[in-house]
Amino acid sequence: MGSPVTMITGAASGIGRATAELLASTGHRLVLFDRDENALSETQKALVDGTEAIAIAGDVSDEFDLGDMVQRTQDHFGRLDAVVANAGINGVWAPIEDLSPSEWDETIRVNLRGTFLTLHAAVPLLKRAGGGAIVVVSSINGVRTFTNPGATAYSASKAAQVAMAQQLALELGKHRIRVNVVCPGAVETNIVAGSQIRNRAETEVPVIWPQGSIPLTDGRPGQAIDVAKVIRFLLSAEASHMTGSPVYVDGGQGLLR
Ligand code: NAD
Repeated sequence: MGSPVTMITGAASGIGRATAELLASTGHRLVLFDRDENALSETQKALVDGTEAIAIAGDVSDEFDLGDMVQRTQDHFGRLDAVVANAGINGVWAPIEDLSPSEWDETIRVNLRGTFLTLHAAVPLLKRAGGGAIVVVSSINGVRTFTNPGATAYSASKAAQVAMAQQLALELGKHRIRVNVVCPGAVETNIVAGSQIRNRAETEVPVIWPQGSIPLTDGRPGQAIDVAKVIRFLLSAEASHMTGSPVYVDGGQGLLR
């Protein structure tokens, strides 16, 4: 079979980029997908020398872009072994009466429809390869705790990703395809730095990692590499008896709520 071919959405930044760099260093061949074409080519340049990788610009909520990604994967590599469905946005966080239907739709479109479309397009290639592994990047907001008032659409999209992944674990087990979920807590990436946390009522803006909110490691927030290492494990043969599992990577943040 040779080195596994792994597709990563949202590979231009944060957790997706750290995962690309880590997997490249352990011999994966990569399909990198993101809507930010310039940053995506930076990720490609940062990979360890000799990595075979293709970079494809597109939007995870557009089925034609994902069809193109799968076709180019097939044309270039002739196979696909693993998928990291990672692309996502915070969207707008606001009290429910201030969250417009179009803002709700945008978060659900990228985070939930995007995950569906990624797997809808990629699973036929995994089946053709005789099996594989999927990791969906959700959040502790989807399962363990709800840290941020106003994150209604975000939390709903992240919880639905977990349900989708567990349902697919059931469906795809007989095809030797494992489907697991990582649920990060606060991680220092662009999604946090640039988050559109809007509170139109102008009450207190939610804080992502208040003092004392992370029990482990002196309260440091997570780094993208912390999550990437768990993704690498879940994709590996070391995790061959795991499927349908949500795995928390949150320094214990969710325990305190
Ligand atoms: P990030 O902003 O650094 O990276 C997200 C990447 O996804 C970006 O490169 C962005 O361009 C891409 N992207 C966004 N919308 C897209 C679209 N429609 N089509 C294609 N690409 C798109 O953020 P991150 O923290 O690395 O986030 C990665 C995942 O981790 C997200 O699903 C996020 O919800 C999840 N997560 C992050 C945190 C955190 O604190 N950073 C916590 C829990 C979960």
